[in-house]
Amino acid sequence: MIKKEWNFCYESGIIEELTTTEQELVQQARQAATEAYAPYSHFRVGCALELTDGTILTGNNQENASYPCGICAERTTLHYAQATHPRTPIKRLIIVAENPNGLTSNPLPPCGLCRQSLLEAENRQASPLRIIMAGSHEYWAVDSAASLLPLQFDAKNLG
Ligand SMILES: [Zn+2]
Repeated sequence: MIKKEWNFCYESGIIEELTTTEQELVQQARQAATEAYAPYSHFRVGCALELTDGTILTGNNQENASYPCGICAERTTLHYAQATHPRTPIKRLIIVAENPNGLTSNPLPPCGLCRQSLLEAENRQASPLRIIMAGSHEYWAVDSAASLLPLQFDAKNLG
C-alpha cells in the first residue's frame, strides 16, 4: 500500500486584484444575489458567468417549501447557460453570497452537487472553466472545475 497525495492550488487575493471584467462580474453576481428566492434560509447566493463570446448570464438560488426542490445559484446559472447557449463554452463563473447581515466576508465555495455539475460542464465543453468565489473583500479562484474535485466521478467511470 502506498499513500498518494493530491495537491490543491488556488488563487487568493482581494477583489481589486481581479481584472476589470472580473470585478464587473462580481458586481453582477452581487446584484443577482439580491434577487434570490431564499425565504427559508435567508442565504442569498448569486452567480454571474461569462461565455467565450462575451455573453454574461446571471442566476441565484431558488428555494422551495419542500426543501430538496430548491436549487443552488451555481446550477441555476449553469443550466440556464447550457439551455440557452449549449454550443458556447463558459469562460468563467463568479459566486457570491449574502446573509441577512450583508455580503459574506469569506468567499463561498460551491457545494458538492454544484462541483459535480461544474465538472460535467467543463468536460462537456472540453475547456477549463475558471471559478471565482468572492467574499466582501477577499476572493479565491481556481482555473478549472476539476481542481475542486479530487478522485472525480465522470463519464470515464461509466465505461
Ligand atoms: Zn450548490
